[in-house]
Amino acid sequence: MNNEELSFTGKILHTPYAKPDAYGALSMPVYQCAAFEFETAEMMEAAFMGKVAEHTYSRITNPTVQYLESRVQNMTGAFSVTALNSGMAAISNVILTLAQTGSNIVTSRHLFGNTYSFFASTMAAFGVETRFCDLTNPDEVEAHIDVNTCAVFLEIITNPQMEVVDLKAISAITKKAGVPLVADTTIIPFSAFKAKNWGVNIEIVSSTKYISGGATSLGGLILDYGNFNWISAPKLHAMAKEFGPAAFTAKLRKEIHRNLGAYMTPQAAYMQTLGLETLTLRYERATGTCLQLVQRLQTLAKVESVNYTALPENKYYTLSKNQFGKQPGAMFTFNLESREACFTFLNKLKLVKRATNLFDNVSLAIHPASTIFGTFSPEVRKEMNVSDKTIRISVGLEDVEDLFRDFEQAIM
Ligand SMILES: *Cc1c(COP(=O)(O)O)cnc(C)c1O
Repeated sequence: MNNEELSFTGKILHTPYAKPDAYGALSMPVYQCAAFEFETAEMMEAAFMGKVAEHTYSRITNPTVQYLESRVQNMTGAFSVTALNSGMAAISNVILTLAQTGSNIVTSRHLFGNTYSFFASTMAAFGVETRFCDLTNPDEVEAHIDVNTCAVFLEIITNPQMEVVDLKAISAITKKAGVPLVADTTIIPFSAFKAKNWGVNIEIVSSTKYISGGATSLGGLILDYGNFNWISAPKLHAMAKEFGPAAFTAKLRKEIHRNLGAYMTPQAAYMQTLGLETLTLRYERATGTCLQLVQRLQTLAKVESVNYTALPENKYYTLSKNQFGKQPGAMFTFNLESREACFTFLNKLKLVKRATNLFDNVSLAIHPASTIFGTFSPEVRKEMNVSDKTIRISVGLEDVEDLFRDFEQAIM
């Protein structure tokens, strides 16, 4: 059967290798090597000059990592995919491809903690301004964009605030302004959310989460949909004349990612390739459990509020349903009466693990304000809308009865 005709899962399972394996291995071998040899000096020159697509050095490309990239490309229809060694490496590589001194980035303060710190501290030190605004208000986004804006950056569901951005509205604004829309879609995997259909130009995924398949390894993916005219991007203007819609990927692969040296390792790529094979199954199971668990938690008197966008009373219910379907991810938050009540709850858990991370096969609980956001001042935490009363839960693959019993005994 032609690969193009296959369904989503078929594409994951049956993406062909770039070259036939000498032994017919059914899973992609781990090419655990730093460098690749050449038969002649001429062939070596051709590879280094980019005239033939051969691997030279595993900081730049590697067959095992490339196979993961090609699977993701096949599943999503992305123009190009680049695998890095963490979600943060993917974010920093994207921003360093787009931003230069004098550029600005339009985003929200309601972001994953390290991403916020990357914008507010790391990029600020190089003269790149970050304009924080309310991304749920499209007019505010439009007002913050100017000629020096190199990207609008958003998370499709913010972690841990659980805000949902209206992607149709925001992508209409970025398109009109000629600014690329960069979306971190870690919270909903591409099996359930097709970023391209919502006007996203560059998608970023922390593959440490859903894709790794049981928190086996760190990883990050950059998906370029080839749907942006880079002529209007100040830093990529010259590249766009030469490479057209491939300008972003050309800049990323020929300069930024090589120079930063944060390519995914072959071992991680192997595990994440296996993780992809069960992604759809795990996502359906975990999100189904998440919805049931959230509904049952609402019945407990000591739970002040439960924040999950599939609950009909949630502010973002309709938007979330349109964009992400009936089961919007396996992460939710809930509030207890105080920080102390949250700590008591965490300490009483017997099954759910006290740990950071998301979308492991086991369920995880964390108090964001004292951990991921612990080094920010109380004022900044307030601006970031991270409350002392909030617990974040990542739902794993356990049975809902077992999970609920653990929550019940820990909350009482
Ligand atoms: C975890 C996470 C990241 C960072 O990914 P790492 O793989 O830990 O570097 C970025 N964005 C979101 C939304 C995340 O949940």
